Amino acid sequence: MTKHSILSHEVIVVATKNAGKVKEFAHALQKLGKETASLLDYPQIPDIVEDGETFAANARIKAKTTGDALGVPVLADDSGLRVFALGGDPGVYSARYAGEDASDSDNNAKLIRELARLQENNELTDLGKLPDGSQLLSKAQFVCALALYDPATGEFVEAEGTVDGVITDIPYGAGGFGYDPLFWLPSLNRGMAELTKEEKQQISHRGVALRQLLPLLEQA
Ligand code: IMP
Repeated sequence: MTKHSILSHEVIVVATKNAGKVKEFAHALQKLGKETASLLDYPQIPDIVEDGETFAANARIKAKTTGDALGVPVLADDSGLRVFALGGDPGVYSARYAGEDASDSDNNAKLIRELARLQENNELTDLGKLPDGSQLLSKAQFVCALALYDPATGEFVEAEGTVDGVITDIPYGAGGFGYDPLFWLPSLNRGMAELTKEEKQQISHRGVALRQLLPLLEQA
């Protein structure tokens, strides 16, 4: 079984400036004996326009733009939240749901507003309440698409991971980031923001996608 040519490189560049994500990727790539660099090490790369219609398309755009600019293999991810009652929104617009420079709390407030509006109009399926009275508003899913691009061959290796949950009308926990405080995990009976980093990596969309991608590189 031959290994993918990407594995002949000592260092794999991850196309993100998010220090939390860099740590997660470095931990996973270490298992392949690889070092990780990120866009924090290459400030000359300009901001990339993520105008794809899917998470996978955006991951490919980030990996290819960065890989072609640097001439080395690049791993990129694109992730976000799909809320079923909102027809899959905010989806690829998760980071800017409440506007271009929206904070996590702006985005969470907009999500609750949109779901409360549907609830007032009796347009939500009744999913019941948690024992403390918090309302379960809509089924939802975090999604993470990964793309690893090699400019030497023009080839991509791709994977996608998801985790299912339910949006609550009050926040739980102080960990994580983004929409984590509103994302309830019925299978664990805990909120995503109540998990430790290690617990989150075990079950999260990003953890699932990474565990799918790494064996593909060993087999390619
Ligand atoms: P991006 O992958 O950096 O473009 O992130 C998109 C947006 O999706 C983030 O700004 C968050 O709002 C949301 N998101 C992605 N992953 C997570 C997660 O693990 N927890 C909570 N929110 C997330």
